[in-house]
Amino acid sequence: MKQRIYINDVAVRDGFQIEKNIISTETKIALIDALSETGVAKIETTSFVHPKLVPNMADAVEVLANIKRAADVTYSVLVPNRKGMERAVATHQSDGRIDEINVVVSASETHNRANVNRTCDESFADFAIMVKMAKSAGIRINGSISTSFGCPFEGYVPEDRVLGFARRFADLGFDGVSLADTTGMANPAQVERLSAAAVRQFSNIELTLHFHNTRGMGLANVIAGIRAGIVHYDGSLAGLGGCPFAPGATGNICTEDMVNMLEDMDYDTGVDLDRLLAAAVKMPAIVGHDVTGQVMRAGKTMHLHAVPGKLYTQ
Ligand code: ZN
Repeated sequence: MKQRIYINDVAVRDGFQIEKNIISTETKIALIDALSETGVAKIETTSFVHPKLVPNMADAVEVLANIKRAADVTYSVLVPNRKGMERAVATHQSDGRIDEINVVVSASETHNRANVNRTCDESFADFAIMVKMAKSAGIRINGSISTSFGCPFEGYVPEDRVLGFARRFADLGFDGVSLADTTGMANPAQVERLSAAAVRQFSNIELTLHFHNTRGMGLANVIAGIRAGIVHYDGSLAGLGGCPFAPGATGNICTEDMVNMLEDMDYDTGVDLDRLLAAAVKMPAIVGHDVTGQVMRAGKTMHLHAVPGKLYTQ
């Protein structure tokens, strides 16, 4: 039996949130609908962040109200704070269903202040209230730990601190925890070590790894995570995304490159790579610039080429 690996595409949220051009609501809906038909397990659809902070997420309600939901896909949203949680729950109850809410804290105190202008303890105090709001609305909730593998200000974060944050999420009743390499500082040895410790300590919650390919180690980190027993991975169609502290740096690991690798290695991603590639090739036109996906350029591994004719002319 092939081992199942579950893919969560975050392009429409993590990717689009840093794009300067405003992407139309119709384009986002079409992209989510296309992703729904690829076989990915989860799609992060939007964020209930303040529209002034991230203009590209101002249409969260319209997006959720108009996508075509596939039965076996989990539709998640990012919620930055209690105000966002109120909007998300109201949307879930009227305009459009939300299957899962994702909240974020940084493992590093400095990064949390830079990102959400709060101490980590203040973030967790809010999460204690937010988890109740999500649960009473019948929505799953996931806690993401940014900078789990390194902070651009503080350097490597002690593993005990990261695992301690995962414990706080678990104790609050969260359904899942994501360890996120927000600025692409993770290396495979470190990923395998921290992931193995997390798998040992948290057997009843869904563990996800979120990598950026900032320094070219993204897909190697996925393999390290799988070796440690983690089966849920975030990726971004066409490799969209980036990092506000490293302008021009490569974004999230590319979903279709990850799927191509995993399928070649005989894992079962449940994803139709051709459909995924068909959606990915539209991305440069959507965002108005080049993207980092490689398989969309080179073709699938088993996309073989015609033998040069002259080999047979002798
Ligand atoms: Zn990210």
